[in-house]
Amino acid sequence: MKKAFITGANKGIGFETAKQLLEKGFYVFIGSRRLAKGIKAVEILKSQGLHNVAAIQLDVTNQDSVQSAFEELKEQTTKLDVLINNAGINGGSPYTALDASIEQYINTFNTNVFGVARVIKVFVELLRNSPQPRIVNVSTSVGSLTLQSDPKWPAYEYAKLAVYGASKAALNMYTVHLAYELRNTAFKINAVCPGYTRTDFTDHKGGEVEEAARRIVKYALIKQNGPTGKFFSEETNPETGVVPW
Ligand code: NAP
Repeated sequence: MKKAFITGANKGIGFETAKQLLEKGFYVFIGSRRLAKGIKAVEILKSQGLHNVAAIQLDVTNQDSVQSAFEELKEQTTKLDVLINNAGINGGSPYTALDASIEQYINTFNTNVFGVARVIKVFVELLRNSPQPRIVNVSTSVGSLTLQSDPKWPAYEYAKLAVYGASKAALNMYTVHLAYELRNTAFKINAVCPGYTRTDFTDHKGGEVEEAARRIVKYALIKQNGPTGKFFSEETNPETGVVPW
């Protein structure tokens, strides 16, 4: 049975992604920074007939928590096939480059960028035991330098996601480097935008969470001849999904 670990899977897009992978026959580990919320999520999934699921406490900003989560995971599996780095924060307000505080930048990068690096550095050991390891770094099209600097881009005039956008642009560059470093292995590592989606993150504005999760699951399941080191947003480019960095 294939095994997947999803960070921040107790709610929102991460929770729905867990559900869809379970429906495809995966065993899914729900990473949750508060264990009680993770256990609650597991209860909901089990009540829907999805039983191959367990919660593991993991706060991506805390190295000890990442290490403990990994030790717990190793007691339950010898390999990991899919890692979805979904946990993320929007940086909070004020949203503009000059008004946002340095604490906002530090906290947002700590979760959205350093958190991903923290998890991957530790979890890569179990991913290496999978014949076809997949990593999806959940990004956003507003983290695209090319799009955000294009006056025709819908979010160009809005331009109020300075901290968040900068953090996801950094995550994108991290994804490029990681994919390069693992290019001669079976790993497929991509940055994927789920699209503007109705969750707590957006005050429940945007599209359906099912569609967002489907976009992530697609890249968790790509075949061995599939892409690596690429950036996808089906919302921005419905034809191929490929978007510029
Ligand atoms: P959400 O409903 O707010 O869920 C975010 C999840 O991340 C929650 O489970 C949250 O846990 C968790 N999290 C936050 N900080 C964490 C930490 N330090 N350690 C572990 N988990 C942590 O947001 P969402 O909309 O599902 O977003 C999921 C991902 O999609 C994010 O990476 C976001 O940037 C990306 N994204 C979202 C949209 C959108 O429109 N919603 C668009 C593009 C990209 P708690 O419950 O404990 O807070």
